[in-house]
Amino acid sequence: MAKIKKKAVVALVRCDTYQEDKVFSAVREGLDLLGGASVFTKSNEKIVLKPNVLIGANPDNCVTTHPAVFKAVGRSFMEAGASVYYGDSPAFGRAEFNMRVAGLKRVADESGFSLADFDAGRPVSHPKGLLVKSFVIANGVLDCDGLVSLPKLKTHPLVRFTGAVKNQFGCVPGLLKSQYHVKLPDPYDFATMLVDLNTLVKPRLCVMDGVMAMEGNGPRSGKPKKMNVLLFSTDPIALDATACRIIDLDPAVVPTSKPGEHSGLGTYHSKNIEIVGENMEQFFDHNFDVIRTPPLPCTSSRFKTWVKNQICERPVIDEAKCTNCGTCVMMCPVDPKAVNWHTLETSRPPTHKYDLCIRCYCCQETCPEGAIHLESPLLARLFSRI
Ligand code: SF4
Ligand code: SF4
Repeated sequence: MAKIKKKAVVALVRCDTYQEDKVFSAVREGLDLLGGASVFTKSNEKIVLKPNVLIGANPDNCVTTHPAVFKAVGRSFMEAGASVYYGDSPAFGRAEFNMRVAGLKRVADESGFSLADFDAGRPVSHPKGLLVKSFVIANGVLDCDGLVSLPKLKTHPLVRFTGAVKNQFGCVPGLLKSQYHVKLPDPYDFATMLVDLNTLVKPRLCVMDGVMAMEGNGPRSGKPKKMNVLLFSTDPIALDATACRIIDLDPAVVPTSKPGEHSGLGTYHSKNIEIVGENMEQFFDHNFDVIRTPPLPCTSSRFKTWVKNQICERPVIDEAKCTNCGTCVMMCPVDPKAVNWHTLETSRPPTHKYDLCIRCYCCQETCPEGAIHLESPLLARLFSRI
């Protein structure tokens, strides 16, 4: 008799506030729908929580996982007998500073969670990776028994959407992350690397903070959007696919979905996903501001530079918002820099040289003023209409 493949389970729980007691009840309800926290940990295990801390920012800005969600998940694992650790490797700056600004350090200190080392790591081979066969993984992940991922529902220019799969990129310490943009400029290769990273670090559980999401110019400079939902799953691909359906984004457009299915990490097909808890339709937001076209494989060597410049969204600096801080120049991973003071006039905002730009969008992602947005060239606009 043919073996019946089990469906991926995604639990949805309504939560319309970050009031701690209400978030705790909602998290408890979500965990119970999946069997309770004790399904995911044994007594005396070390569990590391991995919130999204792209950069230290006030929780109201919706750049980071909210401290109330972080606290509720950590408390639930503590009650199940685990020792709880936490960490992330932000886009730049030390983890502890960013955690403090994001309000997570205070909550962790109050709750007895320990900061894990995400500033340094060790090499780990991954022969089963589809594309990347070894990674340097943060010590804080390697030294724990299990990882619990706490993504934030946000937009992202490169992979359209940042959720559970992308959250694990912070398990790679420091500036090693930016090297992946240089080595894998094609968004589909980059997404496959993210999938490989997930099959290596294998989060035991993902809990997505979608109480307040970020739309528009994410993942740092977009607008907060109330979505009132927490999502729970052991399958990061199914969880992301469900969040995508909620914001009316076809999961097939997100470049992590297909390699995620191919690698066995999870499934994005709705027929293979069982939704438990709340009805998904009540959270649908068809006006959520997200790019709904697939990223073009325009940074691949298959395309000549002039084609890339005709069809790929380009980062553009709004001079009125730019404070000339230089973060974008520092974060640009290519050599020579594609965004720089090319005219040597450092009193004015930097400028982009698009022939050098690999469209990794690290400059847009890290600009502290939200001064960089994406513009589609004419041909890309025509393509998207077709
Ligand atoms: S990071 Fe933003 S504010 Fe700073 S120089 Fe670049 S564009 Fe201007
Ligand atoms: S200019 Fe921006 S998008 Fe282009 S390579 Fe540099 S950081 Fe990436």
